Amino acid sequence: MDKEIKHWFTKSVPETLTLLSVEADTGLSEEEARKRKEHFGANVLEGKKKKSLLKIVFSQLNDWLIYVLFAAVIITAFMGEYIDSVIITLVIFLNAAIGTYQEVKAGKAIDALLKMSSPKAVVKRDGQTKEIDSAELVPGDLVILDAGRIIPADLRLLETVNLQIEESSLTGESLPVHKKAESVFENTKMPLAEIENMAFMSTIVTAGRGLGIVVGTGMTTEVGKIADLLDTDSNIKTPLEKKLSELGKSLGKIAVGICIVIFGVSWLQGRDLAEMFLISVSLAVASIPEGLAAIVAVVLSIGVTAMSRKNAIIRKLPAVETLGSVNIICSDKTGTLTMNKMTVTQIFTSDGLMVLEEAENMTISESAKLLSEGMILCSDATLENEEATGDPTEIALLVLGDKIGLDRKNLGQKYTRIDENPFDSNRKMMSVLVKSENGCSVFTKGALGSLRTMATQIFDKGEIRAITEEDLHNFSEAAIKMSDNALRTLVLAYKPAAENLAPEEMEKDLILVGLVGMIDPAREEVKPSIRLAAKAGIKTIIITGDHKNTAFAIAKDLEVAESIDQVLTGPELEEISEDEFIEKVNNYRVFARVSPQHKVQIVQALQANGNIVSMTGDGVNDGPSLHIADIGVAMGITGTDVAKNAADMILTDDNFSTIVVAIEQGRNIFQNIKKSVIFLLTCNLGEVLAMFLPLAFGWPAPLIATQLLWINLLTDSLPAIALGMDGDDPDVMQEKPRDAHENFFSHGAGTHVVIGGILIGLITIFAFWYGFYELGYTPFMKSIPEEVVKNARTLAFLVLVCAQLFYSLGLRNSKKPFYQIKIFGNHYLNGAILLGLILQLMLLFVPVLRSAFKLHMPDSKGWLMALLLGLVPLVTLEIYKMIFVKRK
Ligand code: ADP
Ligand code: MG
Repeated sequence: MDKEIKHWFTKSVPETLTLLSVEADTGLSEEEARKRKEHFGANVLEGKKKKSLLKIVFSQLNDWLIYVLFAAVIITAFMGEYIDSVIITLVIFLNAAIGTYQEVKAGKAIDALLKMSSPKAVVKRDGQTKEIDSAELVPGDLVILDAGRIIPADLRLLETVNLQIEESSLTGESLPVHKKAESVFENTKMPLAEIENMAFMSTIVTAGRGLGIVVGTGMTTEVGKIADLLDTDSNIKTPLEKKLSELGKSLGKIAVGICIVIFGVSWLQGRDLAEMFLISVSLAVASIPEGLAAIVAVVLSIGVTAMSRKNAIIRKLPAVETLGSVNIICSDKTGTLTMNKMTVTQIFTSDGLMVLEEAENMTISESAKLLSEGMILCSDATLENEEATGDPTEIALLVLGDKIGLDRKNLGQKYTRIDENPFDSNRKMMSVLVKSENGCSVFTKGALGSLRTMATQIFDKGEIRAITEEDLHNFSEAAIKMSDNALRTLVLAYKPAAENLAPEEMEKDLILVGLVGMIDPAREEVKPSIRLAAKAGIKTIIITGDHKNTAFAIAKDLEVAESIDQVLTGPELEEISEDEFIEKVNNYRVFARVSPQHKVQIVQALQANGNIVSMTGDGVNDGPSLHIADIGVAMGITGTDVAKNAADMILTDDNFSTIVVAIEQGRNIFQNIKKSVIFLLTCNLGEVLAMFLPLAFGWPAPLIATQLLWINLLTDSLPAIALGMDGDDPDVMQEKPRDAHENFFSHGAGTHVVIGGILIGLITIFAFWYGFYELGYTPFMKSIPEEVVKNARTLAFLVLVCAQLFYSLGLRNSKKPFYQIKIFGNHYLNGAILLGLILQLMLLFVPVLRSAFKLHMPDSKGWLMALLLGLVPLVTLEIYKMIFVKRK
């Protein structure tokens, strides 16, 4: 096989097949596909090169704070404080290692998610039709195309049925192009837009069906040639990350300001300048909340990975934050709220209503037989030995045929389909042109509303006569009755036709045959989910292409709507003005008979009322509404590529309940981010106060540089992440949705930080003071023996670490005191605290470390003191919560 063949559009279909050595009915063998993949490589467009590990490490070190620390290393070395230099160096690299680990981990999780929502292609290999990752495609693969697909590679088309492709990504032309497989061109300089016998990677099928053979993959495709470096950077920052990184910077500036003041004050006080420089720098390092945005990234990535295990794949990270604010879920009916397992239970023809029972001894009228035959001819579904593929609505029609004893095989041999006008949710119908020994005919099936104006005659007991008002009335009545019982209705009409009838001419002057009603039971888990959502202040709205009454019947059953006044149909929507619709939109709970365009209007009107809207979609025309919605949700199973591409989130199980679960997860993730951030800021404030006040009093410095850096390492990393990995709060769905514009620090979070920080600072200072007092000194004295200062520092050091570690437990829930939650329920946090304590003890009990960090072994009173004081901030927080709970 030659990779260099160009101008495939000048080759005929048989030539193409031969050149690529493929059989049109079996496709490549898996074995051959594997070989070709080795030769041609994966079918992917190469993006920007990923940041290498080394680069990530360097970017961690590339920070002015780190430069200052490096300067500190050099200064300490000159001063002969080699141990300090070593410790500071170690801190620098440990910090970089932790940062790198976090970044790599978060990146991996996001990559895994991207992979899950990666494009798929339907191919024929080894004579079987299967779905594979588009990346696996090789030249020679046969690819099946249908509406809503994104073309996965460059294809020479072998078969086209009304295939229309929108190629704006390549040509800029937004009108779809009609494709024709039969065409062969001679001119090798054809403009792309005119090559109607090929389909190009990344363009979109808007209608019709087709079969193509892969002729170009990856970077050799047309789009590959222009897309040299696609921006596939997965490192997009969410609004919250951006806000927090801004906040981190502002707080950082304040911290640096304070450190400069501390340095200035100590200079005036005549302290040792070198030592004070080190202390100031370390305090700056410890108190600058540089990790804020990084923590958010880590918590987000952990959260979205957990969500993907619950069938919700997040495609755009900012969606996680928005999820917590959603107050309206607009959901499709069929398949999302219902099981999408249709069964025909009633049929209506001019002979009247026939209820299909399980019993087999039914007499089948001529009309019923024609109805069933026509419906089958008009379906693309397959059903063989209990195995079905295709649209459940159509599968139900095949099952109906079997039930009333039709010979489907025979039917298939008698009629061959020669043309069709595919289903479209705007027209709400589809037609086929079939040929048999007796000539050609058109069969059209679709919604009664769409079809009734197109039928001019009716099939009545073997005869064809003009349709009367009474007939139409009877059909409408029958349809309404079926709909009231939650049945989805479908009408069939037909007409004899000429062989070359154009698709536009098919749906005219038809002969009405009959109506089927099919039941699609609601999913069991949906009702509780709708109730849960309602409790959480989230309204469910049903949007469907189905009949008004069918939609209402289901809505009533699911407790979404109470009266038929809450249902608005698409045609009714078109009657009222935009302003009026915005005013009234809140009154409706069900939108029936809607087209994709209506969905956009509904989302916009809801948003104009200040709602945060999630909208589901699956079809080729659902892109715009998914895009506009705050959270666009695509169906993973039945959804088209177009819908998935426009969505923020994909449901792998197409289930409504998963949306509610995702919202719950989104709320929990936000809570966890909040906990981490509050913890970090509280600790930092505590450290700054613990240092600043004593120095301002003219006391010795409570902590030295290495001790500050150690605390920063111990508390800012593991416990903060562990808090972010906290389990789900079972009551998170009792609350109203979070106001999307609300400040991160509203609802008392800011006060929490300030009070917590002051407490931690004050008890540390107290411990420091006690360290002098215990040995008969006060920190105000001029000459104090080194051992006494060491003792006081050790106590302050211990208390500060303990207070921060213990305090984290109280932050697990901002409202509920310890007895209402399992306070030790977060094993990661327990582990982080335990590890922190062990490392801290190691520092004191290992003599080398003790002297390196200039510590003093406390006596038993000192230990007890450290422990008790360390518990003070946590206990205070818990008492506060208890009072708060009582007041409520
Ligand atoms: P839904 O929101 O329930 O998925 P659709 O847009 O799929 O609604 O369908 C709307 C209407 O179009 C249905 O009530 C039915 O009358 C008609 N319809 C649906 N599927 C088909 C089909 N495969 N062939 C013909 N008509 C269909
Ligand atoms: Mg549908």
